[in-house]
Amino acid sequence: MFHRNNHTEDKKDTPDYISIKKVLDLIQDIPLEIAFFDPSGRYKFVNERYIADPIIRRKIIGRKEKSYIELMEISSDSLKKREEMFQQALREKKVLHFTEKLYIPKQKKTLFYKRTLKPLFLNEKDDLLAGIFLFGTDISSTIRGQKEVKYMAYHDLLTGLKNRYAFNEYLDLFISDTEAADKSSPFYILYCDLDNFRVINESLGHEIGDKVLKEISSRIKLCLTNMDHVFRIGGNEFAIALRNCANTDEVQAIAEKIIYYLSSSYNIDGNHLSYLTCSIGIVSYPLDGEDKQKLMKNANIALYNAKRKGENTFQYFSQKMTDSAHRILTIKENMHALVDNKTYDDHFEVHYQPIIEKASDGTYRIAGAEALLRWYDPKIGAIDPGQFIPIAEETNLIPVIGEWVYRKVFSDFNSLVSNCKNPPYLSINFSTKQFRVKNLYKKIIKELERFNIEPRHIQLEITETNILDEHYQVKENIEALIQHGFRLAIDDFGVGYASLAYLHKIPAHAVKIDKSFIKLLGTSEKYQKLVKSIIMMGENLGKDIIAEGVERTEDLYLLDSFGCTKFQGYLFSQPLNLQDFKAYLHEENLLTTLIYSV
Ligand code: C2E
Ligand code: CA
Ligand code: CA
Repeated sequence: MFHRNNHTEDKKDTPDYISIKKVLDLIQDIPLEIAFFDPSGRYKFVNERYIADPIIRRKIIGRKEKSYIELMEISSDSLKKREEMFQQALREKKVLHFTEKLYIPKQKKTLFYKRTLKPLFLNEKDDLLAGIFLFGTDISSTIRGQKEVKYMAYHDLLTGLKNRYAFNEYLDLFISDTEAADKSSPFYILYCDLDNFRVINESLGHEIGDKVLKEISSRIKLCLTNMDHVFRIGGNEFAIALRNCANTDEVQAIAEKIIYYLSSSYNIDGNHLSYLTCSIGIVSYPLDGEDKQKLMKNANIALYNAKRKGENTFQYFSQKMTDSAHRILTIKENMHALVDNKTYDDHFEVHYQPIIEKASDGTYRIAGAEALLRWYDPKIGAIDPGQFIPIAEETNLIPVIGEWVYRKVFSDFNSLVSNCKNPPYLSINFSTKQFRVKNLYKKIIKELERFNIEPRHIQLEITETNILDEHYQVKENIEALIQHGFRLAIDDFGVGYASLAYLHKIPAHAVKIDKSFIKLLGTSEKYQKLVKSIIMMGENLGKDIIAEGVERTEDLYLLDSFGCTKFQGYLFSQPLNLQDFKAYLHEENLLTTLIYSV
């Protein structure tokens, strides 16, 4: 009965809307944005969450979305999606979910909402529409959070530039754009590396270094238009994408501008820096690489060539560069892999080249041996130290590689001298870069003691140019090692800047005359005089003089006549592996006959 009564009452007073009203009252406080529209799209109800301002809340009733846009000051196209969704919800008579982005131009604010539309029907057949519910939640802060995360993933936080990750994605985009335009619009990549940046970090600290990087970023931006992109893709590496250059002249003008701007002096926290420069390698797509890996490899090659041209300059990539540069790059990569995986023992070997001394009785004996590093890379094959040592220096891997060398030599020493009457000294090549490490001498001495070797059995070979390195650490390390009793030899004497006059200032035990002079001995008297004067000078100063690269008996006799008593070269022996050198050590008599029989 109650039910029936109720039913008749509802019918009399437009019962459906009354019940909807009741429902609306009920849901007023639900923590959701709620609006209800009649079938013509007019607002019948809004809650406080949907419109906070009570005046607007009142005004909007009976009006359409156009008023909502005006009253809420949102941009007119913000509700386009909502309108489409409304139509779809009506057509398909179903619940729809979507996200909505409302832009408020006056406040320059964008808000994001999760929306649900639900049509409400008055009958069970679903053809008598009462209206449409709109529910929503503000998800702006979540979206902003996601955007921030995305920003952080794609940007370098120090400079605010896009990062390496972004660069990768942008490259894909640029490539597909160029492809879509039938390759008619090439783009250029300027791969830019700061030349002396490490010095700043090392001498002034990272804080100043960071400030310099920021300044550099703004200087680069000054050289570019809005159409160009700049990325920081490494510590001191930047990539610039130029998509709007008509020809290489325009690209060159930009590269020159960047080089000029970056090489102008910096004033950072009172530090005046005038030695910072940059080198740039340039490639264009599709000409210089059909995919991004090739393109960037070639950009790297071009950059390397710019560096080799003397830094502070740019270089376009050309196919001619690839052969030698690819080899160098592969060597670099493989060297890094070797050091990272610590596979020294598998691919490195130390060979020994005897240093021969002529005794007063006219016999030749082995005084020492020079340790020479050998690298056999499984993919490349044997690599010449003349090629890989400079790369090890350039990549700063020389200290770790050098450490492996001296340890190996120390451990070889003990096995060499085990039943040897006159143990030879072993001479180890050092690059000064190794000596830039603070307290290196302590490490070397400790290692020597571990192997129980007297320091006089070890000679350090440092090239003439390197020995003049003014670096404080270098001097300290070398002096401490000499003080401890190590021998010091000046290597490649004659090719560098140290003239004979310097010789007395250097606390060396030995001087090795560079092989280029020995090679030229037979060609002119000029070289004979020069070599003779080095020998005499050395003798006067009480230093051992070693002639390197002795290949011919004529030269040996000539050197002998000048008073030289120590020799090294193919005439006596090639550098030998440990086993062969051991055998050689015990064949001194054979050596004597060999020399006299030549
Ligand atoms: P270097 O110190 O001047 O070594 C002498 C080079 O001359 C060696 O070349 C040796 O094989 C070569 N040689 C010896 N006798 C003759 C000869 O009669 N004629 C000719 N034409 N050459 C001869 P290698 O082994 O190719 O080494 C090249 C350079 O690599 C070395 O020149 C040295 O500067 C560097 N190096 C080698 N091992 C090491 C190392 O362990 N550490 C460092 N820092 N440098 C190394
Ligand atoms: Ca040497
Ligand atoms: Ca040498």
